[in-house]
Amino acid sequence: MEYKLLADYHTHTKRSDGKGTVEDNVKSAFEAGLETVAITDHGPFHNKKTRCTYPEFLQTKAEIDELKTKYKVKILFGIEANLVSLNGDIDITEEQEKAFDIIVLGTHKTPHGMTKKDFFTWKLRNMFPSTKRRREKVTNAYLKAMRSHNIKILAHLNYTAKVNVKPIAELAAEKNIWIELNGKRVFFTQKEIDAILDAGANFVINSDAHRPEKVGKPSAVWKFLETHKIPPERIVNIEQFK
Ligand SMILES: [Zn+2]
Ligand SMILES: [Zn+2]
Repeated sequence: MEYKLLADYHTHTKRSDGKGTVEDNVKSAFEAGLETVAITDHGPFHNKKTRCTYPEFLQTKAEIDELKTKYKVKILFGIEANLVSLNGDIDITEEQEKAFDIIVLGTHKTPHGMTKKDFFTWKLRNMFPSTKRRREKVTNAYLKAMRSHNIKILAHLNYTAKVNVKPIAELAAEKNIWIELNGKRVFFTQKEIDAILDAGANFVINSDAHRPEKVGKPSAVWKFLETHKIPPERIVNIEQFK
């Protein structure tokens, strides 16, 4: 079976660590036949070179407003926010959060924390392998963030910091938060996929494109789906065409 991707909710521009402009991504989305594309640069706590500050995000928003009439693609103003502490803090404020159409949440190696303590309990600790206890702590941080912020997508779970997918998927199902199958890397076992499905959460496929030509092309996911089973109706942004 083959599927057509209808939307790509996770793409980067050169405003963070991508290579193209907002327009390059939109044009590429149009050419890939997508109905919707989100521009989701990295949040302000990402490392100095590759972060996007809030005023820079607002430049992206202004560009999106201009492009809306130029391309027949729905464009969402988004952010890939970072989880930055065991308390479930993310790197934008509740006030700033309101400006975005879509918030993708992820963990990465580079972001600094909210406080000095977070450097040790979050950033540094995430560089070491996960123990069972650590997984529980990180899982709780996700649950807190999901409860207190308007998150729509959990990006590449298990990257940098391993989690217990079951409680996360249960809350995701309750809050209609989608679990991403990331176009660059997928870190789920079939057992974890089954736990997410059993919990009632749905998946979304995103490219996580850092180059315009990768928008709408989540190659790692198509590969993953050759060897893992997910019912297509549980993936929110595909259409079957064969
Ligand atoms: Zn990046
Ligand atoms: Zn990303």
